[in-house]
Amino acid sequence: MANGFRAIIAGGGISGLTLANAFEKAGIDYILLEKRDIAPDMGIAVSIFPNSGVVHQQLGITTDLPVPILRHKHFIGKGHMFRETQELSIVSDTIHRSMTAMPRNYYLDRLYENIADKSKIRSRNGVESYTETEDGVTVVTERGETITGSILIGADGAHSMIRSLLAESLEKTDPERSKELANPWVTKYKVVVGASRNGQSKPLIDLGTANSCYYKRVGGTCLSSVPGIIYWTMNIPLEKPTKDRLRFNRADLEAEIAKHGHLHMGTSFTYQDLWDNQIATEMVQVEEGIVRSRWNDGGRVVLIGDAVQKATPNLGMGGNSAVEAVCHLTNGLVALLKASPNPSTTQLVEVFDQYEAKHRPRGDLVVTLGSYAMQFDTQETWWLRLFRMLLRWIPDIVLARAFLAYLSGAPRLDFLPSPDATDKLTN
Ligand SMILES: Cc1cc2nc3c(=O)[nH]c(=O)nc-3n(C[C@H](O)[C@H](O)[C@H](O)COP(=O)(O)OP(=O)(O)OC[C@H]3O[C@@H](n4cnc5c(N)ncnc54)[C@H](O)[C@@H]3O)c2cc1C
Repeated sequence: MANGFRAIIAGGGISGLTLANAFEKAGIDYILLEKRDIAPDMGIAVSIFPNSGVVHQQLGITTDLPVPILRHKHFIGKGHMFRETQELSIVSDTIHRSMTAMPRNYYLDRLYENIADKSKIRSRNGVESYTETEDGVTVVTERGETITGSILIGADGAHSMIRSLLAESLEKTDPERSKELANPWVTKYKVVVGASRNGQSKPLIDLGTANSCYYKRVGGTCLSSVPGIIYWTMNIPLEKPTKDRLRFNRADLEAEIAKHGHLHMGTSFTYQDLWDNQIATEMVQVEEGIVRSRWNDGGRVVLIGDAVQKATPNLGMGGNSAVEAVCHLTNGLVALLKASPNPSTTQLVEVFDQYEAKHRPRGDLVVTLGSYAMQFDTQETWWLRLFRMLLRWIPDIVLARAFLAYLSGAPRLDFLPSPDATDKLTN
């Protein structure tokens, strides 16, 4: 389609690989540079919502491992289920799409395997620096390669190198923006995440079920969407918010299990049981925030995904939101390249600004909702404890409508056919 236009994508996570899939389908030339391996054995699981599901279907990405999660149970005390809500099954019945969760590396691998021309994906070759001219961008990689493109997309995660380089370039001219870009996040929580064995003959939790558990200053979710496996989280508030990078070792993690292991995650099992049956566990800081200043440099460099918005993981929306951002950016580029195969910097900036204008409100919503949900999960104030009591009486349909309202604003890839007649996501 675009004669001579080529995008350089820095980062091969959810944002980068979804962009690669979308660009391939749109006929936009690109090269993706990933610092590590593609789909490394890192991170535990990722929840996929219908807003991503519809885009995957457009792109032909299939995930046959997980089953839908349709039941949602809520627990307090010693395994007391105070409510089972039906919002997930109502959403599924209404739009014929469901929420599910799967191993993170499996998901990334599915995104990668769907790309026909793998020569455009280069792993273990991160971007180290870039320079920009009126006509294009040149990056230098860790292996010393020099690669030229028309635009550079920083899809390189929460600690984005591209965002840091942009921050450095603004140090003298715009110190305030530079400071924000250098470190836009605040950390108020840490989270223990795990995958554990779910007994085959007598499972701890039924397949297709999620349990949410609320305790004072600890809360979390466990769910089963893959036979034999439970994914779980334990959210813990820090004593005070910090902007520092935190690293936790095995002893830190074990200390949290020693402290909170007795808490129930279902009628008949506790965090300790999940710990005893662990396959993989880790503890990470939970950064949150959204870059308030512009997401492009007024030239040919633009940021996407966790590089500009960092949601807490408890609602499982960060990656799903990144897929939405990919739709907005790709839709804009496709329309521009159709009209102007070799667009000027001014035209590109216009597309970048439009992508940001469309995505920012939903990105902001996801970050804000995640933050409130984190406070709710960990029952930090008296009014959140009161709200938990009220949860008993909130009708399922109200919860389902809130979820459906959110989903109804999700974009798709405009240049690909709508998946099917029964798909009512945006109707
Ligand atoms: C514990 C936890 C659980 C979560 N659970 C969910 C969930 O269930 N559902 C959900 O939707 N979201 C979830 N999220 C959020 C989700 O993981 C992120 O929103 C998503 O991964 C963002 O994708 P990304 O591609 O923008 O960034 P990343 O996933 O961080 O990918 C960035 C990539 O860029 C690479 N990179 C870094 N620097 C360079 C460089 N200089 N050059 C080239 N490449 C580089 C990295 O190696 C990485 O592969 C969770 C997050 C956490 C922490």
